[in-house]
Order: sequence, then structure tokens, then C-alpha cells
Amino acid sequence: MPKPLWPLFPAIEYPTVANTTPAAKITATLVNEVGSVAVVETEFQLHTWSMTRTEYRIVGALKHLLENATKDDLLLVECLEPNKHYELSLAKQGTSRFIEASKLKVKVGVHPLRDWGYLRPIDQLNTLDDVATAEIDAMLQKPFAPIESNPTYLISKRIARLRVFRTSILGAYGPTCALCGTGLHSANGISEFEAAHVVPKKHVGTDDPRNSLSLCRAHHWAFDKGLVAVDNSRRIILHDLAFKEPGYSPLIKLAGRDLLDPKVTHLRAHPDALAHHRKHIFEGQPFG
Ligand SMILES: [Zn+2]
Repeated sequence: MPKPLWPLFPAIEYPTVANTTPAAKITATLVNEVGSVAVVETEFQLHTWSMTRTEYRIVGALKHLLENATKDDLLLVECLEPNKHYELSLAKQGTSRFIEASKLKVKVGVHPLRDWGYLRPIDQLNTLDDVATAEIDAMLQKPFAPIESNPTYLISKRIARLRVFRTSILGAYGPTCALCGTGLHSANGISEFEAAHVVPKKHVGTDDPRNSLSLCRAHHWAFDKGLVAVDNSRRIILHDLAFKEPGYSPLIKLAGRDLLDPKVTHLRAHPDALAHHRKHIFEGQPFG
């Protein structure tokens, strides 16, 4: 364990002859290179060799990471709860996660016989966005999964993730609502467009951009409330309510129109996400 990481971990008494390997119990969330997660109880310990050479290390229950790691991969370490809970995630060489991690300014000395040792400083704001960008890039390289398999509950990470999500969606669609094709800007250029989750966050919908539409405010609200949806042919369909009351006239004009796809076509809303929205939001069938 490289020295700059020590303060992130519980303080440990110095070894004695009676106890040559003092340790503190910690919880570790392990994330391997395919994003699979395991939560384990492990130990942060100070190991000694004949009371001369010492080394801080995390030992035990790390198989989930070690079996996937090869030489020169990176281990990203993040403190989730001081002295208690840490996230240890593997960045395999050649992945966008590895490349992003390699750009970090804070590098630490690594023992020549160790394959890993890297610090991800949580307090460097840009790295949160870098990590969120890398996470979203990684999602786009995999088959689409509408439900997030590894949801992030850490507030700082969620904010960064949503910032990157929004930027990628609004950039992909340009200043256009995917339903009505229009939208408003204020005089000083502030756009009303919102990056809507198709499978909503309350269903643990993914932040993969293929789970999103750029929508104007009125249509975002109508979409979230299930007044409007998109059918299998990517045509807009309306809830019966919209045809019964005159107040819904801003929706009527959408019926039967084609959904507008983004200029960046690989970010278009995925049919599985639209189907989930149709079934559980538009038709109101229970989820989960
Ligand atoms: Zn609209």
C-alpha cells in the first residue's frame, strides 16, 4: 500500500513481538473490470518481516479482483466511509477507465514487486467527471441493459454522472425535443431542454445515454407521467386522456409522429428502454 494512501485507512498500532501483524477490519466494495461487484469484509494490516521491514496492505477476500488482474493493471482506491468502507476497483490496461486513471496527476511510488498502487483523489473535482465519463463510455461499449447493475448512491458521484449524462444527451440531439422537434431558449441562451431518463431512476434506470431522450419541459413532464410514449415502430402514442380533454391539445399534435433521433445515432433511445417505459409508465403495469 503506497504511503499517500495510509491516512485514508484506520490507524493501526505499531507491531510488537507479541503481535507482528496488527490489523483493522474494513469493508471493501470490489469492482472488477466488467463492473461486477462484491462487498466483502477484509483487513487493513501492517505486516512485518522480522520486525524490520514493514508494509501496509489489504489482505483477504480479494479474490474477486485478483483473479481478474494482470501485471501493470491499476487498482483505484476510494474511501466511501472513513475508517470503515472502501471501494477497490480494477482498471484493466487499455480500457477507458485505465486511460482516465493514468491521467491523474497524483501518482504514488509503487513497490517494484507489486502490480498495483494508484491513488484516485476524491477531492479533485475534475476526476469525478473523468470517472463518470469513463463509466458511461464503458456502458456504451456493452450491450444495452435498461436497469443499472451497479447503481451509484454516492451523492458526489451521482451529480458528476448526471452532469456527464446531460451533456452527452443534449450534445447528441442539439437544441431539439425528441418529441416535438422544437424548444425554447431564454434571451441569454439558456436552454429548456432536459435529458430525460426513459427507464426512470425510481426503477434504477441506467445512466447509459441510450436510456435517454432530449425533451422540452412540457414533454418531459408528460413522458414521465405516462401521457405519452413511443411504440415499437418508434412512433409517438398518446394516453386516452389526451383525446378527451381540450387542455391536452399540446400533446394531440404529437400523435403518430416519428420519434426524432439524435444526430449521434449510436446514442438513440434503445427499444428495450422505450418498451420498459411503455409497459410500466404508460400502461402502468407494476415494476419490481
Ligand atoms: Zn417537446
